Amino acid sequence: MEARKARKRIPMKRSSPEPASEKLYETASFVYFIRWLRSRCLELSFGLTTIRKFKLVPRPSSLLAALLVGLCQLSLGQDYDIEVPGEPPGVPVPKGVTLFQNVRIFDGTSPALSAPSNVLIRGNTIDRISASPIPVDTNANVQVIAGNGRVLMPGLIDAHWHMFMAATPQPVLMTSDASYLHLLAARQAKATLMSGFTTVRDLGGPVFGLKRAIDEGVMVGPRIYPSGAMISQTSGHGDFRFLFELPRKLGGPLSNSELEGVAAIADSPDEVRLRAREQLRHGASQIKLMAGGGVSSPFNPIESIQFTEPEIRAAVEAAENWGTYVTIHAYMPRAIRQGIAAGVKCIEHGHLIDEPTAKLMADKGIWWSLQPLRYDEGAFQRMSPVSQKKALQVWAGTDTAYKLAKKYKVKTAWGADILFDPDVARRHGTDLSVMVQWYTPAEVLKMATADNGELMALSGLMNPYPGNLGVVKPGALADLLLVDGDPLANIKLIEDPEKNIMVIMKDGKIYKNTLK
Ligand SMILES: [Zn+2]
Repeated sequence: MEARKARKRIPMKRSSPEPASEKLYETASFVYFIRWLRSRCLELSFGLTTIRKFKLVPRPSSLLAALLVGLCQLSLGQDYDIEVPGEPPGVPVPKGVTLFQNVRIFDGTSPALSAPSNVLIRGNTIDRISASPIPVDTNANVQVIAGNGRVLMPGLIDAHWHMFMAATPQPVLMTSDASYLHLLAARQAKATLMSGFTTVRDLGGPVFGLKRAIDEGVMVGPRIYPSGAMISQTSGHGDFRFLFELPRKLGGPLSNSELEGVAAIADSPDEVRLRAREQLRHGASQIKLMAGGGVSSPFNPIESIQFTEPEIRAAVEAAENWGTYVTIHAYMPRAIRQGIAAGVKCIEHGHLIDEPTAKLMADKGIWWSLQPLRYDEGAFQRMSPVSQKKALQVWAGTDTAYKLAKKYKVKTAWGADILFDPDVARRHGTDLSVMVQWYTPAEVLKMATADNGELMALSGLMNPYPGNLGVVKPGALADLLLVDGDPLANIKLIEDPEKNIMVIMKDGKIYKNTLK
């Protein structure tokens, strides 16, 4: 008996705490499960809302998600619908069909204009191009634009732009409230589109919110390929901290420009990797690293080599794992070579390059995002003495750089890289017309349309606007300008967009039409 009792007691003793802990465990599991289910429901609900709102293509997985959401929402009795504020801007295209009649086309690649043609836009895409009349149902709501022999060309693309900083003076940027600066950037976005630039590759600055607002139709502006924060080493070209902000304790608080997303300071491969991944998390279409000295940053010589090969490679790995690429700011041959060895796909600037390095870029198929930087009295006077000295060095290299780019047939992108200067930003198109020192107008416009469009596509999985950009061809995205005159004969027409660009269309929507 004693033994039996003992045997019975032993299990009793062992099992008695078990139901309690199991119960606790089960309760905890249930709570976790409910929380998990709830969070999944919220995600799915948001996914469904997104599919509905933005008319995304429903896939089997989306439909399954939709079914689950229905069940979840029923069980939780909640609806997390998110309303996007704002009205779509521009003239709405009735039923999404526009016909350009009697236009001569610069298609982005050919050196000559087409014969008089008609171009049909359906939705956000170029549907049909024909020399014969394209019949449209006149009873349907079709917008017809009589071109009267004017020139239809692709919207311009700027491959090196800073929407947040182009037209705002540096002291204002460094001392103002962020919300004010974002409003200025939004104003600049509209001005950029109205200058004929339907796409920009933004090479640094907090523009993720602005891009979203433009894409949602809340604000008016071009397509933005954002890099997000410029990743820089301490004292590098993206380190605009005041001296009293140093030293930063490792892991210590971020500086203001880092918090605002202008720059990200990183000093090891691990930190670079983290910073690159943060930008990708925001939706960066490419990663920008400061890999050498710059004009506007006072604390580094223009000749300085920034980051090390392993640091740059860490960003390259992060970007390539996300299906995109790294581009670097670099003027000097050694900085360019270090970047290429680390796997970058594009060089920004490169004005002080040497001949073997230009040849290396051509051999490796590296993109050269080059700007016609040159002496500008007003801009020069506004610079600090340190920047003036560096600017003169860089400007002196522009002519040689373009000659080498041409000589070795390096894949060359065009960009303006206007910084801190409302006057210069207003003359955006002038940076195109000055290019005729080295190229024909057709070559210049090809660079700023089809070639730059090719560079945009390098963003691969992170391309926010998949589709053909920078060309007038069936199937391409409908980003178009109707120019009053022939820009291949007179590229200076681009300098005065207000007068000479009659129609501006982006993504099939008309944002300007002075022919009505
Ligand atoms: Zn730049």
